[in-house]
Amino acid sequence: MAEVVEWLRSQIIADKEAAEAAGGEEWIIGTDGQQLFLVPAKAEPQPWNAERITEWTYPVNPRQSGEWEECDRSKPFHIARHDPRDTIARCEADLAILDEHEVHDSGFSRSCTVCFEEGKDGDDVPVEAPCRTVRLLAYGRRYRPGWNPDWAPEGITS
Ligand SMILES: [Zn+2]
Repeated sequence: MAEVVEWLRSQIIADKEAAEAAGGEEWIIGTDGQQLFLVPAKAEPQPWNAERITEWTYPVNPRQSGEWEECDRSKPFHIARHDPRDTIARCEADLAILDEHEVHDSGFSRSCTVCFEEGKDGDDVPVEAPCRTVRLLAYGRRYRPGWNPDWAPEGITS
């Protein structure tokens, strides 16, 4: 079970490195009439002159802006919402959560340093590591190679 922490950290770091390699910037959607495209936000106010990250061509009349309403623009908007800047911020937050829920190894047991539950005598006792918070963070990456379904938090099946 302890491997989930190392696996999760490696996944987050790989995500962050990929976002940094992709420029680490905010991406915005631009249009030249018939195409939607993604460009770095710094391309404002003339995004159509910037180098495009990717583009989609739609069967619309460029002179009739209302035709966009009929097109499925969900993929460009999804990618823009998960641009490198956003990904890096999310990874940094995930790494901070992982650091906060550090595993304490007493030699006899492994427990979370911040999560507690009520023990037999009513006292607060440390939760066995990896805690539910860490397992939930890992669960968000469950479709990746190396995921072990046994790592799923209690009460969640996939
Ligand atoms: Zn915890």
